[in-house]
Amino acid sequence: MAYQHIVVPAEGEKVSCLKPECIPNNPIIAFIEGDGIGHDIMTASKRIWDAAVEKAYGGQRKIAWMEIYAGEKAAGIYDGEYMPEETFDALREFLVGIKGPLTTPVGGGFRSLNVTLRQVLDLYACVRPVRWYQGVPSPLREPQHVNVVIFRENTEDVYAGIEYATGTPENEKLAAFLRDELGANFFEGSGLGIKPISAFGTKRLMRFALQYAIERGHKSITIVHKGNIQKYTEGAFRGWCYEVAAEEFGEYTITEQELWDDYNGKQPGDKIVIKDRIADIIFQHLLLRPREFDLLVAPNLNGDYISDAVAAQVGGVGIAPGANIGDAVMLFEATHGTAPKYTDLDKVNPGSLMFSGVTMLEFLGWWEAAELVTRAYELTLAQKIVTYDFARQMVGATEVKTSEFATAIIKNMDEVNT
Ligand code: NAP
Repeated sequence: MAYQHIVVPAEGEKVSCLKPECIPNNPIIAFIEGDGIGHDIMTASKRIWDAAVEKAYGGQRKIAWMEIYAGEKAAGIYDGEYMPEETFDALREFLVGIKGPLTTPVGGGFRSLNVTLRQVLDLYACVRPVRWYQGVPSPLREPQHVNVVIFRENTEDVYAGIEYATGTPENEKLAAFLRDELGANFFEGSGLGIKPISAFGTKRLMRFALQYAIERGHKSITIVHKGNIQKYTEGAFRGWCYEVAAEEFGEYTITEQELWDDYNGKQPGDKIVIKDRIADIIFQHLLLRPREFDLLVAPNLNGDYISDAVAAQVGGVGIAPGANIGDAVMLFEATHGTAPKYTDLDKVNPGSLMFSGVTMLEFLGWWEAAELVTRAYELTLAQKIVTYDFARQMVGATEVKTSEFATAIIKNMDEVNT
């Protein structure tokens, strides 16, 4: 496909499907730099990933980076367009991408670019691995027990964008229908939003989590929901998740009930335990008994809250990675925002984007490179070389710039590689 502003690197090869066996040694990977601190963290992270790939595979593998555009940088290039159509086309053609944060102005009339990307490309699973790394400041006494992967539904729920502002004809029409036809009762002038949760959307998310659990040897999946109150949305989500596990993955799974009834509480090594917890209590459990949790599957809004809350237990959104994955495209992303006050100061923590890249390397099947980044990162933290956000929480730390932090990690790859 011909592009207006995107330059396809001549030396790279197209990724032909999302499985490790479809990844060439020089895959073309798309990147969106992002607004605000995006330039600083993307520049630093690309240096780290490239160094790790080079070291892990002795030059046999190399990512061919292809810049694509969204947000303020896109607006400058495409005559004020924040989300050019060819950005979607490029992701559909090249399948794998990684992005920095994008600005979303608060208030009406501007749909979040992040939500748009997820919905247009049908990136239905938001995958957020959250674990503690040696040396990361944490408010917990035993942060090492936090090691979960959250699968958040990405396209439905109150995020579907079916909302009607008070005072609009649409709002009045819907309000009248709800009151007159369905007997609903609510205050005059309420803003109205609809929360769709479908069997289709829920089951494909749970199916994805189950496949991930089987491929990577995970032990349990906890379905998080508010089904005690919202029975036909959140409660249905819970029911459909159990259904997929039983009907499509019966030989790999048992329920928590079966664990006690049939196995006396002793988990057989070849079975994944499927359990569920109500959304409010999960926050307490994840704080007080984190080792009981492995994979978590949640609808959109609850998944959003839980992802940031768990991340806060082990370093915060400054280092938490994220990925948005569909059947055709994978887009990895920093989970924090653009932190505009730090734009171009070479100051912030590149960890969230860097670990999103680690997650990407794992999905590509480049485990050795992923491991190298993680181990070099841990060594760098052990040396107390950190960016400002960690420096203010640590005693005796050396505060460095974003670029210097990347340099320290790359240097440490030699130490952990031997
Ligand atoms: P934010 O950009 O995440 O920043 C909030 C605070 O988090 C910062 O002031 C900073 O804390 C800390 N922080 C964020 N990134 C950091 C990093 N890499 N290293 C160290 N500390 C970091 O959230 P916001 O101010 O609410 O949002 C700003 C803009 O980003 C908005 O337009 C919002 O819509 C957008 N946003 C985009 C995404 C996305 O693209 N995925 C996600 C969230 C928000 P201190 O002030 O304590 O230093």
